[in-house]
Amino acid sequence: MSEPTKGRIVHFVGHGADPVHCAAMVVRVWGTGPDACVNLCVFRDGTNDRNIVMPPGHENDMVFWATSVVRSDEDQAKPYSWHFANECKSGV
Ligand SMILES: [Zn+2]
Repeated sequence: MSEPTKGRIVHFVGHGADPVHCAAMVVRVWGTGPDACVNLCVFRDGTNDRNIVMPPGHENDMVFWATSVVRSDEDQAKPYSWHFANECKSGV
């Protein structure tokens, strides 16, 4: 199983009723192994990703920082999780 490394592009699943998968870059890996927790720099698709719950005052930001995000390969719709882009089952 692949392990997360700094600089790798993954998918971040945001909060919201219909969570979208955003492209995100790993900026820190906490621990070791394939299920390590990561910090991500998440890129939104402008207003197309408006349904992601953002912190107050940052609703229109195109890039945001998501910390201590857990991996979820089984349930790729789990809010506030990540998985490798090339293993995405949804593509949403
Ligand atoms: Zn995905």
